Amino acid sequence: MDGIEPLPDRITAIDTHTAGMAKVTAGYLIDAPRPTLIECGPALSIAAVIRRLKAVGMDPGDLAFLVVSHIHLDHAGGAGNVLAAFPSATVVVSEVGARHLVDPERLNASSRRVYGELYDTVYGDCTPIRADRVRGVADGELLDLGGGRRLELMYTPGHAKHHIAAFDPDAGALFVGDSVGVKMPGMRIIRPATPPPDFDLVLSQRTLDRYKALEPAVVYLAHYGAVDPPMDALHEASDQLADWFTTAEAAYAQHSELDHVTETLAQRFADEVVDDPGDPEAARRLALLSGYESNALGLIRYLDLRDEGRVAR
Ligand SMILES: [Zn+2]
Repeated sequence: MDGIEPLPDRITAIDTHTAGMAKVTAGYLIDAPRPTLIECGPALSIAAVIRRLKAVGMDPGDLAFLVVSHIHLDHAGGAGNVLAAFPSATVVVSEVGARHLVDPERLNASSRRVYGELYDTVYGDCTPIRADRVRGVADGELLDLGGGRRLELMYTPGHAKHHIAAFDPDAGALFVGDSVGVKMPGMRIIRPATPPPDFDLVLSQRTLDRYKALEPAVVYLAHYGAVDPPMDALHEASDQLADWFTTAEAAYAQHSELDHVTETLAQRFADEVVDDPGDPEAARRLALLSGYESNALGLIRYLDLRDEGRVAR
């Protein structure tokens, strides 16, 4: 079946079919006594995820955990639907974001403002999850998958204040959500993901430094797949973020208007997407998930707060 890709160490990539496109958001299924899915994508495309989980042999009672790196809808929007289809599963989320999955009204309202018309065509409503099926976790907590396998959960803010990563020490696999950036098919380099309202430069770089210290054998991005070699990718992510930020900061110092910062980023980084006529979806994927304007909005918000002395330098 399409959208199912076996990876080493009993990990399977389950393409979430976000926006009806291949290779936008990856889910990662770990085959262990307590089977665990990392990321599920938005509610509107969740039927594909459930179909693919069933195709790899997951019965309704099988899934034990759904780990979401953060509560942006392209990662966690379908969590309620997954839990409805797999009644034994618990969702694992940062303790900072947990209450928004129990009562998603505010999350849905703010997402609708951010995504505009895409809210109804790509994302859809997050449905509420019973509190006893939501496990909010802090930095350093362990998730026992059974059979000696475990995930070490890390609190990794920067992209969002409710962001966690999961490290599988047996496989050396580090699942980083959006905290390293975005590199989908057709892209030359890792693009930073700096959206509003939480992006923070200092926290992002600190998170990347923590990942480097782990010396992972493989780094799995949510958008999309493994980046190789992993340590080079982490250094590239730090360098790209520094460059991206410096470019935005210089534009902001000239005029802090959104259009100006957006245009400056677009001009400076336009060659990141390989202009491959054989892959017309590359630019669409990037515009959907990490467009210049939403990144510029997050950077401007951060620079405003920094000017006001409200974030750490
Ligand atoms: Zn995100």
